[in-house]
Amino acid sequence: MKKDIHPEFKPTVIKCACGNEVTVGSTKSDITVEICSQCHPFYTGKQKLVDSAGRIERFRRKYAKFQNNSKS
Ligand SMILES: [Zn+2]
Repeated sequence: MKKDIHPEFKPTVIKCACGNEVTVGSTKSDITVEICSQCHPFYTGKQKLVDSAGRIERFRRKYAKFQNNSKS
């Protein structure tokens, strides 16, 4: 390898929002992810709400108005 043109490759811990940590080799440090193989519904086999952007909450707020209107 040529010297001084390669980024430093070092062990890095990837932290997931569920608390799982995976150590990998990377040129980046302190990687955080929102979902991993320990908490993704495909791997856990459980239905789980994945709503990191708050989209479902926005949707419910938006359509709460319609439900109130139809009752009155
Ligand atoms: Zn996870």
